[in-house]
Amino acid sequence: MTERRAKKRKRRSPGASAPSMWDGLYGTVEVRRVQPYEAHKEYVCPGCHRTISKGTGHVVCVPSDAPDLRRHWHKGCWERRDRRAKRQT
Ligand SMILES: [Zn+2]
Repeated sequence: MTERRAKKRKRRSPGASAPSMWDGLYGTVEVRRVQPYEAHKEYVCPGCHRTISKGTGHVVCVPSDAPDLRRHWHKGCWERRDRRAKRQT
């Protein structure tokens, strides 16, 4: 029980050093809301890898430096993504 101090961990979780495109790699991410009547297609949410069905309100996230890489997310997945990045469940 004398090694308590060895437990000190100042490092961030692995992978945190490389910002993802959702964390500023391609500039500020603009989040646009998509209303149910605007959702004419199905998309795959990068957060949960499930389908966002037609007619479902969700969000589009557009990195300002790479608008072509925009992705459609479930609103809840996008919001949770932020928390997960900080806490790592
Ligand atoms: Zn999702």
